[in-house]
Amino acid sequence: MDCIFCKITSGVIPTNFVAESEHAVAFKDISPRQPVHILVVPRKHFSDIAELTDSDDNLLLELMKLARKVAAENTDGSFRLSFNTGSSAGQTVFHVHAHVTAKGAKA
Ligand code: 5GP
Ligand code: ZN
Repeated sequence: MDCIFCKITSGVIPTNFVAESEHAVAFKDISPRQPVHILVVPRKHFSDIAELTDSDDNLLLELMKLARKVAAENTDGSFRLSFNTGSSAGQTVFHVHAHVTAKGAKA
């Protein structure tokens, strides 16, 4: 298993999850670029959001629902939800993940 996010989601690398659902987890980005920066990641490996969208409607919905919960619990209500897709768009980890970023943390 050579994928860092497979190691995190499976518990091989112990990580504090800020939220989780049956098939997805959320944890703080190791190198935050905003005051709130949380990654939302399916436990199953897909390389990017295009592959996930083509493969599993239920998991796609679950990922979005978990991202929405993370935003509600950790931001002031204004947030960005983004998926870098492909290296020229800035993707560096090829296990699909949503970035939830915000300037304002929940009071
Ligand atoms: P990408 O550039 O692929 O869209 O986002 C990958 C993100 O994963 C980056 O923001 C990077 O800081 C984060 N990241 C990379 N390795 C680790 C890690 O081992 N732990 C955590 N928590 N975040 C990581
Ligand atoms: Zn993976």
